[in-house]
Amino acid sequence: MVKLVVVTGGVLSGLGKGVLSASIGKILSSSFKCAAVKCDGYLNVDPGTMNPVEHGEVFVLDDGTECDMDFGHYERFMGVTAKGSWNLTMGKVFKSILERERRGDYLGKTVQFVPHVTEEIKKNILEVGKDAGADIVLVEIGGTVGDMENALYLEAVRELAQDLGRENVLFVHLSYVPIPYGVHEQKSKPTQLSVRELNKMGIWPSIIACRCSEHLTEKIKKKISLFCNVNDKNVFTAIDVPSVYLLPGELESQGMTKVLEEWACKKLCKVKSVGSKWNELAEKMVELKNNGHEKKLKIGICGKYTALGDSYASVVEALHHSSANLGVHVGIDFVDTEKIEEGVSVKETLEGFDGIIVPGGFGNRGWEGKIKVIEYARKNNLPFLGICLGLQAAVIEFARNECGLADANSTEMNPKVINKVITLMDEQRNVVDLGGTMRLGSYEAALEKGSIIASLYNSAKVFERHRHRYEVNPKYHSVLKEKGLSLSGLSPNGKLVEFIELKNHSYFVATQSHPELKSGLERPAPLFYGLVRAAKLKAGI
Ligand code: GLN
Repeated sequence: MVKLVVVTGGVLSGLGKGVLSASIGKILSSSFKCAAVKCDGYLNVDPGTMNPVEHGEVFVLDDGTECDMDFGHYERFMGVTAKGSWNLTMGKVFKSILERERRGDYLGKTVQFVPHVTEEIKKNILEVGKDAGADIVLVEIGGTVGDMENALYLEAVRELAQDLGRENVLFVHLSYVPIPYGVHEQKSKPTQLSVRELNKMGIWPSIIACRCSEHLTEKIKKKISLFCNVNDKNVFTAIDVPSVYLLPGELESQGMTKVLEEWACKKLCKVKSVGSKWNELAEKMVELKNNGHEKKLKIGICGKYTALGDSYASVVEALHHSSANLGVHVGIDFVDTEKIEEGVSVKETLEGFDGIIVPGGFGNRGWEGKIKVIEYARKNNLPFLGICLGLQAAVIEFARNECGLADANSTEMNPKVINKVITLMDEQRNVVDLGGTMRLGSYEAALEKGSIIASLYNSAKVFERHRHRYEVNPKYHSVLKEKGLSLSGLSPNGKLVEFIELKNHSYFVATQSHPELKSGLERPAPLFYGLVRAAKLKAGI
């Protein structure tokens, strides 16, 4: 029978519930087959149509689902390949219920929040476990206990504990222990109140993790233990860590693995430890950050969603992965390409950089600025990686400046342009709905023998994840090639350009896919690795 670990959050948002869940998942997945469900309270069916500045990066799965960015943590930490069914949203839940109601599936019945909505949530959670053949399903409830939005999820997991037996559902609550200025003392009241809020919903957590800037004192652990009905061995500090990858090891050193083992195994097996390579790389990352200032690379992420770092979360993580593996600290600066359009000099902006990335994006804002930074990188031998819209901008720059197509553009930016070098894919022409209708998910590409890309991937074919509507217009493949742009990775039918590169350049590579989504600490995404390696060479480190 499947067991569940349910993670809830209290007091305030932004405490790192996703990272805590992924860390518990990391510890458990070394010994058990695990899956993860994220329950989001919003009414969007998926986050695909949300602005990344509002909600953070939209993460894309192999199966094409656009989902919550916490799936980035789950996949990076647990080594799982998540599926669309693992992300529940209230939009999805209600959509399914309302469709069934219209079909007449509930004929004669009043459709109610309890039991119908909760049954739907429970069914989805259990199906994920069954479908994945999982021993343990991690269930992260989005938001904060006390929110109206997630009350139905809490009711559903309470019922699940009843259905599956209390011993098979482990409730973990993440809370906050402040140390107020001038008081110099760790305070437990917010934790007591949020656990009480949870108790009102019929849930008694067995593990309490407290976000704090210091390790919890024995005194405060005892206090939390007494007031919240948990064993003091089960009170952990989710301490501020300089790298999120250190949290699994940190929790392990506080005894978390032992506690999980006692719950999960009942003498059946041993839970293995997080693993030394993982910890070594995580520690390396921090050591580089602390000591690597003279030997630091400066990489620019050039885009328009620079107001919220989380908009490019996986790009940032992929850079950190390469940094740890190559033993060099990567300093990341966001470059707002709109400023360049307003007249700020590209040369002055990019002079100190060792490499740049133009990441994915949508729409006109900052587009011409992106083209300008790419032109600068190409002409000044500055290592460059283009991702999705970044590939499209690189192709337009090359068409305009090397192929004599001065007006070349993407029809996304100018539908009336004559040289439609980037244009809608055929499959996209009749699409009306904007939600979930892009070319989404994992697609294969065939890589040219002897290309930089093939050597980085060390393979003649690769699968990467996609999220786009536009493509390089096949009519222009030949002129781009003639003028020296290598279309070094194509879809198996040869129609879609998936990767491009320039020879005779320190590193000029772009892809229509999002390789950052599959990057991990122990398996850095090859194209990011290539960029950081080239930047390192350029900087002479
Ligand atoms: N807007 C572009 C397209 O739809 C690129 C999308 C992206 O960068 N994810 O093709």
